[in-house]
Formats: sequence, C-alpha cells, structure tokens
Amino acid sequence: MSFPEPLQQLIGDRLDRELNWKSRCHPLVGYLPQRPSTPLFIKREDELNANVVGTKQRKYLSLLPALEHSGNRRIILIGSAHSNNVLGLTQLLRNRNYDVRALVKMPGNKALTGNHLLLSLLLPGDCIHYISHRDWPDVEQIARQEANRWAVRGTPAAVIPEGGYSEAVLPGILTLAADLQHNCTALKLQFRDIWTDSGTGVSAIGLLLGMRLLGMTQPRVHITQIAGDPDAFQQRYRQFESWLVRQLGSPLPSSSPEVRFIKPATAASYGSVNKTILHATGHIARETGLLMDPVYSVKHFYTVKCEMERHMPTGPQLILYNGGTLGLCGFQSQLASLQTIV
Ligand SMILES: *Cc1c(COP(=O)(O)O)cnc(C)c1O
Repeated sequence: MSFPEPLQQLIGDRLDRELNWKSRCHPLVGYLPQRPSTPLFIKREDELNANVVGTKQRKYLSLLPALEHSGNRRIILIGSAHSNNVLGLTQLLRNRNYDVRALVKMPGNKALTGNHLLLSLLLPGDCIHYISHRDWPDVEQIARQEANRWAVRGTPAAVIPEGGYSEAVLPGILTLAADLQHNCTALKLQFRDIWTDSGTGVSAIGLLLGMRLLGMTQPRVHITQIAGDPDAFQQRYRQFESWLVRQLGSPLPSSSPEVRFIKPATAASYGSVNKTILHATGHIARETGLLMDPVYSVKHFYTVKCEMERHMPTGPQLILYNGGTLGLCGFQSQLASLQTIV
C-alpha cells in the first residue's frame, strides 16, 4: 500500500493489509440531467466490500488494526436495529473470531426485516441486548458498565460508539482523498464538484481533511446531510482536525476545499422513506442499473437531481455512491406493492 506524502507516513502502516480501499469511478448514465458541458461520474464506494457499506469499510481499515492492537477479544457495539455499522462490523469481527455483543435500540417494528434480520442471523439472541427508547440516551454508559463487568471477570471489552465515531477510524477515512486522486489520474480529468452524503459526518470529514493534507482545494464538496446539521458537522470536523494535528505532529495546510451543505429534498428526517424515495429507487434502478439503498443513497441521488435541475453546474461532476444493495432488503414489501403503480 502506498500513499502520497504526508499520508504515507501518517497512515501507511496503520491500515488492515487485506481490506480494499480503492473504488472505481465510471460515467453515470441516466437519472441525473445529462448535458455535454457537464460530464457525470459515479464513485463506486459500494464496491469496496459486497457485505459492508463503503463509508463504513474505510473506517474499519484502521479501526480493526487498532482493536487488534488493544488486545480486547470482546467487542460491544452500539446502534439501531438497522444500523449499517453494527451489521458491517459484526461480520468482520466474527470473521476474526471476536466475541461480539450488540446494544441495540428497541425497534418500533417487531417484525424481523432488513439489517435487523441479518444481525439476528449473525448473533445469537443472548448477544443482542435491546435498550428501550427511555434508556437509549444512556446507552454509552450502559455499555461501559457492561465492559467493566467483563473486565472484573478477566476478559476486558472494547466499546465502539454509535456509527464508529472514534479517533481510531481517522487513518482509514483519510484514504478516500488519496483514492480520489488515483481516479482523477486514471481518468485524466479534474472534477469541478463532488456530491457526497453524510450521517455522523465522519466520512465526509475524512474526505475534507484528506484533501487538505494533500493540498487539494478543488473540487468543491456538496454534502447531503441525511442526518445531523451543519453546526454538529463543524463541531465534529474540529474534533477530528485536532486529532489529526496531534497525530501528524505539525499544523495542517490552512487552505481547504469549498463546502456546501444540502438538506434532503424529500423525507428530510433521518431514516424516513416516502413514496417519492421508493419511486426514485425504481427509477434509478431502471435508468442507471444501480440497486441503491433508499435511506441514504437514493435520498442523496434524488436530492442531487433536484439541485441539478434547479441549477445545472458545469464541468465534470462526481457523485459518491456510499451505500449498497443490501440496504434494500428492509424495503422488499414496500417496493413490491409499488410495482403495480410504477
Ligand atoms: C453510515 C452511512 C453513510 C454516512 O457515513 P457517516 O460517516 O456516518 O457520515 C452514508 N451512507 C450509508 C449507506 C451509510 O451506511
């Protein structure tokens, strides 16, 4: 693995040796408005790992070696029943023979569907601990208490916060900017704009900090905030920035790319999916050949479409597909009932 400096020195020996960190870019046909002056490309973060969402895979690139180094063989995960992070990390940790426990927010829907069903296939019932909505604000504390109980018995446990939000993911999330540079070199073009989506914001922060380290002030970055708001994003950005400065041992280049935050154009609250999103899932599949998860990626692409129809940018555009097809499986019955309408 080799990265341009100063990334190589910072992250070169801190990534898992086997997990993939390169994804391809190819022209995007269909769905988004097509103009000769605005060539559209898609970055296939979904192809990084067939079973793990792309943004999460980049976090695990450095999280897994950090866990290995810590020596803990028991890991406590935190998230909703449909969390892509809990599902992705459970697979990779079980592959490596860790003892995995999940603290899961009690789902509104008792029927086992989507990620919740897949998680229950991966972990026996006594390894999934449901936390009520009332107790959910204290979930990190509950996890630490559980970790302490294990420690007393001689098997210390590591707690992974919701969404994998921790310093250990920093080297991994910086790989996106380096990979983007590879894509630009291979395609022999410079993108004018990048369109990505965010939940915790950690992946987009990795992109921005990686670009800054590599001295890239272009392209401009548009972020569809599927969850959270610009203030919370800025706060997290500053947290990661300070971790990075400490790890680097020197100040960061001051110039960074221009950033713009966008709200979802429909079904704005996190996790909600409406008829517009379900129809868009079908349109994207028919027009582009991509089977996208509704909660993040379809909402992101629909929002980018609305933005481009309002104001068509010029120059090469790169849209990140951060999700994956697995995210569709919780929506089978809703999509099936739509087929008569489409
Ligand atoms: C987690 C996730 C994101 C956002 O990643 P963050 O680092 O939390 O901002 C985007 N798309 C999908 C499908 C995800 O699971």
